[in-house]
Amino acid sequence: MQEMISEIKKLLNYPKDIAIISHRNPDGDALGSSLGLQLYLEKKGHVVKSIVPSSYPHTFHYLSKVDDVIISDEDKAIAEQVLMRADIIFCLDFNGLDRIDKIQHAVADSKAVKILIDHHLDPEPFVDYTISDTASSSTCELVFKFIADLGDEKLIDPKIGDCLMTGLITDTGSFKYGTRAETYEVAARLKRLGTDDYYVQDKIFNSMKEKQLRLLGHCLANRMEIMHEYRTGLIWLNKQDYKDFDIQRGDTEGIVNYLLMMPEIEIAAFITEQPTIVKISLRSKGDISVQEIASRHFRGGGHKNASGGGVYARLEDIIDKFKRVIPKYVNKQQHV
Ligand code: 5GP
Ligand code: MN
Repeated sequence: MQEMISEIKKLLNYPKDIAIISHRNPDGDALGSSLGLQLYLEKKGHVVKSIVPSSYPHTFHYLSKVDDVIISDEDKAIAEQVLMRADIIFCLDFNGLDRIDKIQHAVADSKAVKILIDHHLDPEPFVDYTISDTASSSTCELVFKFIADLGDEKLIDPKIGDCLMTGLITDTGSFKYGTRAETYEVAARLKRLGTDDYYVQDKIFNSMKEKQLRLLGHCLANRMEIMHEYRTGLIWLNKQDYKDFDIQRGDTEGIVNYLLMMPEIEIAAFITEQPTIVKISLRSKGDISVQEIASRHFRGGGHKNASGGGVYARLEDIIDKFKRVIPKYVNKQQHV
């Protein structure tokens, strides 16, 4: 690790063209880690562009330079040009090229030095340097450590801190899960460097639109099913719901977690009918691995307790499949 850091440090000794890329449907950790790293690298004199495949929830508008992020679905030629021209490509918060779908070839074909910083299970070997730690709460935690290991912790100003604090908060549900001692240490060090954690929490959690709250009500009242004997809950939305509630990207963020608020529920699923695919988001408590369920049955992956996938199929078929698959992973409860 030490050797890898000193090699990367050497690479960063002179100004470089750098691309930072993160995953489709970017969340707080994807955007926060990308922009935190971008702001830091710019301070060091590099020219940096961040790229994500698809658009991001409006919640994250407070992040510095988020408006400059290239969305490759909308500006494919520009994204490809940036990737081709880059001396270094940082791949953040994803573990395999399929997570950046249409621009994966531009990354694979680029002659740039590629550096992965990620905390997902089973990273694929498509890069030159891998900084992967599945025990880390978030990629933001790893980016903080990366900057500190380069000897530059003091360069983390409140703007960079807001970005990195964002991933710590969103990937742990406000420090409720996925934490380790280092997570709190990084949060403490960010706070000491001037990051206003209350500001970040307020931006993330008090940003709901009226239609989102109404949609949440609809999900809980009309779209929730509980499989009591398997301690599993699911919520689904069809295309008509998307129209009726004018659902945009990010509007459904966090809905899956409501199911876990019931103490007896150990697995939660949120299944949505998208224009071309059916998307499934899975969450679990304790030892049950939804990563296994997502990768074996729904062409996805992620973390043990938070995973997702997407399948070309009918909504009804995926709901049925989910109900058929679950008994293989949870022992039936006798007394319910
Ligand atoms: P979410 O349910 O919030 O979309 O995603 C939860 C986790 O599952 C994220 O960490 C994400 O990386 C992973 N994930 C979501 N969708 C997919 C997918 O289609 N493929 C893979 N491999 N991972 C996914
Ligand atoms: Mn993450």
